[in-house]
Amino acid sequence: MPPQPRDGAGSLHAQLWPLTARFTDEGVLEVGGVAVPDLVAEYGSPLYVLDEVDVRTRAAQFRAAYDDRSMPADVYYAAKALLATTVARWVSDEGLGIDASTGGELAVALAAGVDPARILLHGSNKSYAELDTAVSTGVGRIVIDSLIEIDRIAQIAAEHDVTVDVLVRVTVGVEAHTHEFIATAHEDQKFGLSLADGVAIDAAARIIGEPRLRLVGLHSHIGSQIFDASGFEVAAARIVGLATQIRDELGVEIAELNLGGGMGIAYTPDDDPIEVVDMATAIRTIVRDACDRAGMAIPRLAFEPGRAIVGQAGITVYEVGTIKQVQLGHGAQRAYVSVDGGMSDNLRTALYDADYTCALASRASMEDTMLSRVVGKHCESGDIVVRDAWLPDDLRAGDLLAVAGTGAYCRSMSSQYNYLPRPAVVAVRDGRSRVVLRRETMEDLLRLDPGGMTHE
Ligand SMILES: *Cc1c(COP(=O)(O)O)cnc(C)c1O
Repeated sequence: MPPQPRDGAGSLHAQLWPLTARFTDEGVLEVGGVAVPDLVAEYGSPLYVLDEVDVRTRAAQFRAAYDDRSMPADVYYAAKALLATTVARWVSDEGLGIDASTGGELAVALAAGVDPARILLHGSNKSYAELDTAVSTGVGRIVIDSLIEIDRIAQIAAEHDVTVDVLVRVTVGVEAHTHEFIATAHEDQKFGLSLADGVAIDAAARIIGEPRLRLVGLHSHIGSQIFDASGFEVAAARIVGLATQIRDELGVEIAELNLGGGMGIAYTPDDDPIEVVDMATAIRTIVRDACDRAGMAIPRLAFEPGRAIVGQAGITVYEVGTIKQVQLGHGAQRAYVSVDGGMSDNLRTALYDADYTCALASRASMEDTMLSRVVGKHCESGDIVVRDAWLPDDLRAGDLLAVAGTGAYCRSMSSQYNYLPRPAVVAVRDGRSRVVLRRETMEDLLRLDPGGMTHE
């Protein structure tokens, strides 16, 4: 079902757009005090625009909400959502650590000057080289995701003559998505070590037997776009159960429980995630109850939000190209509005059927009464940016469209499909803009191709 037309051009739903976004009387979208058309004039289109105030505000808000005096917690920013040295510095400034899931993400975080002790390394298939980098640079925590890693890290730790703090990633048999979660005895997926099969406690026993490893905690990440705390309830109960089993059978107290990320954001007016503070409070209650029932002291907590830190801070700006009216039958029609990017800069619609909200960003117009589908310029019919949108009837080539909520998992999942150079990411704040990641050029596209180099 397509959304209903918006109530007139120029309205912004506050939960969908960056905190500093607003429309001028001329119908021009501004973010961070900078007009979007001016940004496109300077940096080209398509363009990712990132509201620095929004990212910093949310990072600080998460830190304040989750790191409560009654139950201290570390908040790590899940860097896979969007990473550049600038973003790593912003979130570090606001007191967050960094959750890296590959050697590449780790390298960017280290290049940003992030304190290695505040970095946590994930990964379902970490290479020997990645583990060696993590251990030699003094990364604070490594989350173990397979039995083979235990031997590898122990060996690397011995080579460097250090002790390494590790967590076990536990598959608790809970999967959460938006307002639903399912609890299953066994999960047919690649992440973690199964609680139900006894592999998780086996891993804990092996770690405890390694003098170079210190088992500091257990980890569980149940999914993404979670809109309420209910999914954490079963997960917390099960992981606390495992912690007491480790205490009783192996004699080791678990000092830290990392409950992962997955806090949801609104992409359309239909999405209604609960407030950050309310989610944090609900999770604390859940953990306290689970620990009380298990007779266990409350461990230090850790969380890894990604999307909820950067998702709403980012928009993508495109230039409108061709517009085709396609008949749907019964006299209805839909405008296929083509833009100058697509699935190479935002894969989520094609990959997950994700919904987005968009708006004309470059001028005032009449009401949004034209049923539209915003599509990209790639050679795939699934190359859709916004499946259902209402846009003004007089939309034309050269207009700028802004898509809300593209800060997370758009640039980080981008590709050069069809040899489209990746758009720049620019940060805006207080009327000024700066490059976070520059636009790729045609030279960048040929850089890796020995036959593409120019010969004098
Ligand atoms: C992806 C991921 C996150 C972040 O998820 P969001 O939905 O972006 O908050 C956190 N922890 C782990 C282990 C992840 O894989």
